[in-house]
Amino acid sequence: MGLIMRLSRYFLPVLKENPAEAQIVSHRLMLRAGMIKQASAGIYSWLPLGFKVLRKLENIIHEEQLRAGHLPIQMPILQGADLWRESGRYDAYGAEMLRMKDRHDRDMLFTPTAEELVTDIFRSHVGSYKDLPMTLYQIQWKFRDEIRPRFGVMRGREFYMKDGYNFDLTKEDALHAYNRHLVSYLRTYERMGLQAIPMRADSGPIGGDDTHEFLVLADTGESEVFYDSKVTDLSFGDREIDYDDRAGCQGVLDEFTSLYARTDETHDEALFNQIPEERRRVARGIEVGQIFYFGTKYSESMNAMVQDAEGNNVPVHMGSHGIGVSRLIGALIEANHDDNGIIWPEGVTPFHCGIVNLKQGDDEADAACDSLYKSLIALGLDPLYDDRKERAGGKFATMDLIGLPWRITVGPRGLKNGVVEVTNRRTGESEEMPPEQAVQKIHAIYAAI
Ligand code: ATP
Ligand code: MG
Repeated sequence: MGLIMRLSRYFLPVLKENPAEAQIVSHRLMLRAGMIKQASAGIYSWLPLGFKVLRKLENIIHEEQLRAGHLPIQMPILQGADLWRESGRYDAYGAEMLRMKDRHDRDMLFTPTAEELVTDIFRSHVGSYKDLPMTLYQIQWKFRDEIRPRFGVMRGREFYMKDGYNFDLTKEDALHAYNRHLVSYLRTYERMGLQAIPMRADSGPIGGDDTHEFLVLADTGESEVFYDSKVTDLSFGDREIDYDDRAGCQGVLDEFTSLYARTDETHDEALFNQIPEERRRVARGIEVGQIFYFGTKYSESMNAMVQDAEGNNVPVHMGSHGIGVSRLIGALIEANHDDNGIIWPEGVTPFHCGIVNLKQGDDEADAACDSLYKSLIALGLDPLYDDRKERAGGKFATMDLIGLPWRITVGPRGLKNGVVEVTNRRTGESEEMPPEQAVQKIHAIYAAI
């Protein structure tokens, strides 16, 4: 267990040069920090450091979905075409769907989304209103044959997505599910250290009337955003939320969506101009999630019915909800970096802190690092110990590039005075303290999040 967190045994293929193919900073830094390797256009292998961050995001998403009462499942990556013919989307979906045939000449496809599959699961097993409400979700690889994959994981062809689907008896119930998702997404992004603004949006090929996208403001974002600057003052914070409390969830939606924030076809110049001029903003944003209510679109075409309390068979009301898990890593880096590299928010950092040994091979420095390393692990923390025989400058550059929020630097000179140095990656500020105090400090920081 311990060995894999020593840099001498880790696999961190950092690049010194800027890769020519990367146009935006997140793509450049993910390649330079050895997080991903392109396999083919828009398709990536995730190397240990990148994979670790992906798992962190996934864990946060699971925790917040479970808290909201949603049920995790796993559906296949390959789907048969028949269900899509039933819903009418097989032809409608277009060239973004990667289609293939199996050896029996059956039409198959690589999942771009899973409304059909999940509706089929539902209709096969649920027949009564008594089993509702129900929300099923998965975190699974998707494939969309994007015409222009670019910006690394931001617009991949293969990408990792959380997709959830709610089934409810009435429109009112389904709108509560919509609100629940909005709240759980706000919590999710905030835990990742991101501000994602919910914006009214156009529903596109999923269909339906009600939809919000979640956008992270960034110059490199692909979406144009018109908003009232006051939306960026909103924060979910540490308020308690009861997901069964309909008025409470509706209140959060109202609070977070009453100010003007729109993009694409829904933008309304006249409404926008009603905002006081000094608060009007036009900027760019990265779409990191979207929620939809689409009513009975799929339940009617696919005959997903339940019996209501009066014994009538009625189509269920549905919605779907997505988070771009792999894209989020790009968005996180766009929002958190400086000239030297990534700066991970504490909630998603791949390692809690780095330990830099300034004089590897010096008995005292080695022993102090070993002891720090073990004490941190004993407290449940996950440090990365740079135990390579490298120059100090090179070690600092690597730590800055991979962006761990805290660094403990250990050298013979400090140890003579009984101290190590603790450095904050974001501010660059350093503080000297005894090793035990450094351990306590790092522990306290992560205990608080
Ligand atoms: P976009 O408008 O960016 O193409 P979308 O609206 O088609 O995305 P959704 O169907 O809403 O995508 O999927 C849910 C989430 O999955 C999106 O909000 C986004 O974060 C992510 N996502 C969608 N397409 C890609 C992609 N090609 N690469 C990486 N992430 C993606
Ligand atoms: Mg979308």
